[in-house]
Amino acid sequence: MKLYNSLTREKETFVPREPGRVSMYTCGPTVYHYAHIGNLRTYIMEDVLEKYLRYSGYDVKRVMNITDVGHLTSDADTGEDKMLKGARREKKTVLEIAQFYTDAFFADCKKLNIRRPDIVEPATKCIGEFIKVIKKLLADGHAYEAGGNVYFDTSTIPQYNVFHNFQEEDLQEGVREGVEKDSNKKNKADFVLWFTKSKFDDQELKWNSPWGLGYPGWHIECSCISMKHLGEYLDIHCGGVDNIFPHHTNEIAQSEAYLGHPWCKYWFHVLHLNTSSGKMSKSSGEFLTVSLLEEKGYDPMAYRFFCLQSHYRKSLVFTWENLDNAASAYDKLLHSIAKLKDEPVDAKAFASLRESFRAALDNDLNTSLAITALYDVLKADTSDGTKLALLQDFDEVLSLHLLEGAAKIREAQAVENADPAWIAQIEEQIARRAQAKREKDFATADAIRASLLEQGVLLEDTPSGTTYKLKR
Ligand code: AMP
Ligand code: ZN
Repeated sequence: MKLYNSLTREKETFVPREPGRVSMYTCGPTVYHYAHIGNLRTYIMEDVLEKYLRYSGYDVKRVMNITDVGHLTSDADTGEDKMLKGARREKKTVLEIAQFYTDAFFADCKKLNIRRPDIVEPATKCIGEFIKVIKKLLADGHAYEAGGNVYFDTSTIPQYNVFHNFQEEDLQEGVREGVEKDSNKKNKADFVLWFTKSKFDDQELKWNSPWGLGYPGWHIECSCISMKHLGEYLDIHCGGVDNIFPHHTNEIAQSEAYLGHPWCKYWFHVLHLNTSSGKMSKSSGEFLTVSLLEEKGYDPMAYRFFCLQSHYRKSLVFTWENLDNAASAYDKLLHSIAKLKDEPVDAKAFASLRESFRAALDNDLNTSLAITALYDVLKADTSDGTKLALLQDFDEVLSLHLLEGAAKIREAQAVENADPAWIAQIEEQIARRAQAKREKDFATADAIRASLLEQGVLLEDTPSGTTYKLKR
């Protein structure tokens, strides 16, 4: 597989350190608010990468942090802790906010069919690890204490700007949004490892440390959580493109200074989802969440399809019209799949059509071409059974609920096409069964279920009542 590496700015052949095994780290959400669909574009594309590596036979171990402390509003060392801001907004404690939005994040991921990473670690559970690493950085001369905080000294490493993505003058205070002058820093690029002093002294969560009561910086979290679970060498580190500087630049600086050797080989960055007026935001304009899409009647899968239609290294513009186009293409796709019949699989055609899907993803995870390969399957001159087998195979990676979605359409069509008198009779039986259950007459209820099953009607009891499917 060829993968673009932001560090070398080249597409490279992907070779993990240990044959057959991949260690993968993902910067997780800062849980002070709901994720917007831009954040989720990044997680969708990382999910496809993880699943494609598994599909290709690698044993992947993926770790994600949850940022519940230390991420300041500027992404650098100034501003308020985002978590504290969230807690104040909702008049709750930081820990309540963290739990609520962590759950909300994974609920969104589930709706988008994003696999939960093997290990999910909140930063507040790893304070001991951060202290251990900061102590060593201080002992080795890579860090210093000033004005109550501990800073990383960027002049002690051979190269700081490893991604070559900023100019020296970008580091001038006041150039970057919200970055204020910090006279404690020896070098402009130095960053905080541990805070005991900040302008916002009502920081809620604080821990004892050799440098006083305080809290960790955001960057040290990811380095330590990655090393804790994945060891001294990392194959792939992922994040959105905004994480390159300062976050990932600082992660590399401190990790390699601590370890004394190169740390992560491949850096995978997803470009942003923007609105037509620019940057996507949680505080201004329409706050685009998965729930909002659902409220407006969109299936979250249509959003996943929208993301997969374009390459992760291109920025993507969100408009309702673009989403409408994706939603109707997705619906049409499911309807085409619903028409396919169960037939034998032609192994030769299967292998050759699978090849173009693999070739697309082997070429720097080109999901847009992978979707083309999917349409080519539907057009191909082969049996429906081969097509169904290929779609099921591709969906291990794409996770678009292709067969499940098509099955739902077939079930709905079966009800539409059935004799209305028969459907009325089924519904009457279901009502009788509900009455029997209310009267605790379970024998009758079970008998009705069995009799409906014999007629090809499958009942499903849900919290909001009993639904049914017609077996074809
Ligand atoms: P945060 O919760 O702010 O730490 O961000 C979570 C993830 O979303 C990070 O990997 C960011 O780089 C990424 N991200 C932030 N904004 C966008 C956007 N508009 N489009 C895609 N990814 C984004
Ligand atoms: Zn991170």
